[in-house]
Amino acid sequence: MQPPNLKNDCFALPPGVHWTPVDEALDLLRQRLQPVVTSESLPVGLAAGRVLAEGVTARRSNPPTANSAVDGYGFAHAALGKGVQILPLISARAAAGQAFDGEVPLGSAIRILTGARLPIGVDTVVLEEDVTLQDVRIAFHDGLKKGANTRAAGEDVKKGGVILDAGHRLQPQDIALLAAVGVGQVSVFRHLRVGVLSTGDEIVPPGGDASDTQIYDANRPMLLAVLARWGLEAVDLGHVGDDRARLKAALDQAAERTDAILTSGGASAGDEDHMSAILNTQGTLHSWRIAMKPGRPLALGMWNGVPVFGLPGNPVAAFVCTLIFARPALGVLAGRIWQPPVGYLLPAAFSKSKKEGRREYLRARLDADGRVEVYHSEGSGRIAGLGWADGLVELADDARDINPDDAVRYYPYGAFDL
Ligand code: AMP
Ligand code: MG
Repeated sequence: MQPPNLKNDCFALPPGVHWTPVDEALDLLRQRLQPVVTSESLPVGLAAGRVLAEGVTARRSNPPTANSAVDGYGFAHAALGKGVQILPLISARAAAGQAFDGEVPLGSAIRILTGARLPIGVDTVVLEEDVTLQDVRIAFHDGLKKGANTRAAGEDVKKGGVILDAGHRLQPQDIALLAAVGVGQVSVFRHLRVGVLSTGDEIVPPGGDASDTQIYDANRPMLLAVLARWGLEAVDLGHVGDDRARLKAALDQAAERTDAILTSGGASAGDEDHMSAILNTQGTLHSWRIAMKPGRPLALGMWNGVPVFGLPGNPVAAFVCTLIFARPALGVLAGRIWQPPVGYLLPAAFSKSKKEGRREYLRARLDADGRVEVYHSEGSGRIAGLGWADGLVELADDARDINPDDAVRYYPYGAFDL
């Protein structure tokens, strides 16, 4: 089934000259975006990294029956008394996959191994290390609680219970849970195909020759790598210069084979900002003036029904805008529930006097004392700082004087799924 199309105004922000706060822009994205991909059924073993299109219920309980948590001896707790316990062993054994189908008489014990179903007449197990074995009897001290060293049926998961919700991206640990409760196939979304296009006359492919006035394309390989980390299908759309006819042709082609497009460069409103110009005249443009540093205007819009995220050309700004806006937005387009990053309040290792009226993201990492240090430059062309950092520190919209040991919010790159 084909999901409904996005509306052309899904990126519209409040009109006027005011700079939109980050949270307001995120709320609007959250309200207006929806999955744009169809679903398919996959074997659980192939579904890691995919997003569930439907919630999943347990086909059976885990564990399916009560069983032993240790290697030892099983018996009925009701037969125990005070002091040293001596119980005769029956001549049978219960092991995982080799259940004992008979009954253990009250006052007797059976050799039992980890994972073995508890036989009839057994509700408690004593650890083999706590037992003296002689002839066919065991001796151990009193004090065991009823049910000791056993696992109850369904104590982990009950049959029929919801174990994972639609919109959840499957992690390796989820695969274990699905397998354990007998789920063999899951309904997951197809991969979201996301194109990456670089623009600008000065940009040349990385690795080749470049004159002094040319700039190697850093954004495209960076963004393609980010998308791959997010489990999306990254589509390399190459590079086009500052030429509207060629930009149009590139977008037309891209819209045929992708579900969303990331472009970098030319997103402001200057003479050479062709990305925003062409979206404005031939697609839909919403020029985002976000109260955020690094930022500058972003050009968001639709091209032939495909959402376009026109990122700034500066690699640092392109990277941060991708993590803050494109990550949750692409997640929803790909079927995920909206995923805010989870940050930590940690002591600062820096001082800064921050202006009012915009959100700031600084390249940051933890020092040996677990305090947050920031990169020595906030310049948004300083690519080296991205790799120096292990994450970003977020300074809220209001003015603030930060001194060492003040709490600041730190997001490790992992909070952005990197
Ligand atoms: P723009 O947003 O087009 O005004 O570009 C801002 C800055 O980012 C300029 O210095 C560009 O040369 C630079 N830039 C644009 N695209 C890229 C890219 N793909 N890789 C590295 N730098 C870029
Ligand atoms: Mg440019």
